[in-house]
Amino acid sequence: MNTQPIPANFFLVECRACSRPLRVPKLLLDQQVVCRHCSLQFTAFDPKSSVAVEQPTFANLIAKVDQLLAQCEARPEVA
Ligand SMILES: [Zn+2]
Repeated sequence: MNTQPIPANFFLVECRACSRPLRVPKLLLDQQVVCRHCSLQFTAFDPKSSVAVEQPTFANLIAKVDQLLAQCEARPEVA
């Protein structure tokens, strides 16, 4: 097993296709990178720094629709 610590200016991402860990320079954060194992191109992001990406839930969606409907109803009718 390769248990080398990763350098401070690198972060570890897991390839979506082959699930292998890749060391990506922090300079390439949010950039397109290519997996050197399977050549998949994907956006590198630091899993540790990706805080709370808002997941659209069904309840959120309903709330949003209600909000939009309310906005529509508030508008004066146009023929
Ligand atoms: Zn890969």
